[in-house]
Amino acid sequence: MVSAHGKVRVAVNGFGTIGKRVADAVAKQPDMVLVGVTKTRPSFEARRAKEKGYPLYLAGNGSREEFESAGLPVAGTLAELLAKSDIVVDAAPDKVGRENAKLYKDLGLRAIFQGGEKAEVAEASFNALGNFDACRGKRTLRVVSCNTTGIARAASVLVPRYGVDHWEVTLVRRASDPAETKKGPINGILPTFQLPSHHGPDVRTIFPDLPIATTALVVPTTLMHVHVNHVRLRRPPTDAKEVLSAFRATPRFHLFAPWEHADGTPQVMEYARDRGIGFNDMMENVLWEEGLRLEGSDAYFFQAIHQESIVVPENIDAIRAACELSDGPTSIRTTDRALGLSA
Ligand code: NAD
Repeated sequence: MVSAHGKVRVAVNGFGTIGKRVADAVAKQPDMVLVGVTKTRPSFEARRAKEKGYPLYLAGNGSREEFESAGLPVAGTLAELLAKSDIVVDAAPDKVGRENAKLYKDLGLRAIFQGGEKAEVAEASFNALGNFDACRGKRTLRVVSCNTTGIARAASVLVPRYGVDHWEVTLVRRASDPAETKKGPINGILPTFQLPSHHGPDVRTIFPDLPIATTALVVPTTLMHVHVNHVRLRRPPTDAKEVLSAFRATPRFHLFAPWEHADGTPQVMEYARDRGIGFNDMMENVLWEEGLRLEGSDAYFFQAIHQESIVVPENIDAIRAACELSDGPTSIRTTDRALGLSA
């Protein structure tokens, strides 16, 4: 499905942490055009949308007058934006997407939702490496959460090559995003008493038969999540180097060698700032070569997940899957090239 002008017209509803990144990513794609973004009230982010030349529309119970008095006149309402679009990426806060879903359905509009919504919000949950083909042509998709995306990508490397008999992940979760000031803890470690945590079942929306169990705790950091993985492989290779090569050869993985002295998430995000992609983002799963070990059939590895950006390329691929623009590998290549991600 391609519009008459040759590009898919994309609306982004919700221009916060995820929405503003997805909007930038859409604007960079050769086969998409960003029709507009929405805000509920004027803010520095609304101002940045204007400065970038993104048409700004009113969402929620936003007031046109409030935007006008801030010097940020809007181009119209959400309904007007959607009427000009082939597909909408909903990046509104958790559970607001569920409300918006009714509107999109009434308009017969394709829609991409985020991981803060329950799986039932869409026809299928999506991960580009994990299940692109199964999602092709579905009118509504949900890009799974940052943590689930990270695990699903790793599963797409391990499951087909080696088989997985058992997988345990402990998720060390960031307390908040850097710009959030109302969440914590700022001192302390909070265990998640839902055992296993919801992440395992969420991964099974992509890999239904994966024998995975997840536990989680929240720690006082804003930079990234870190996953501690123990995977029992059914057909293990003889050397850990083979597993490292498999990760290295897969798009959306970034491996740090010991000589790089990227000791933890502060250095990873310093590298991201140095590299300057997106909002100085790290959209790949980050692995440390020295953090992967193989003992018999047991593989151990750490991976770091930049929560604010890992789902951005996935949203772009979800648009292509829903609009049947290309196959998965082509979409991943196109997305990553446009975003400047390493091959
Ligand atoms: P956010 O709060 O940073 O941004 C949400 C934006 O939506 C805000 O700009 C808000 O003003 C706007 N908004 C509020 N009500 C709205 C409405 N009725 N219609 C349209 N827009 C509205 O939130 P976020 O972190 O970008 O999260 C968005 C979604 O992405 C959630 O489902 C979340 O779970 C998911 N997600 C977030 C992260 C993360 O770490 N931040 C990672 C992966 C997935």
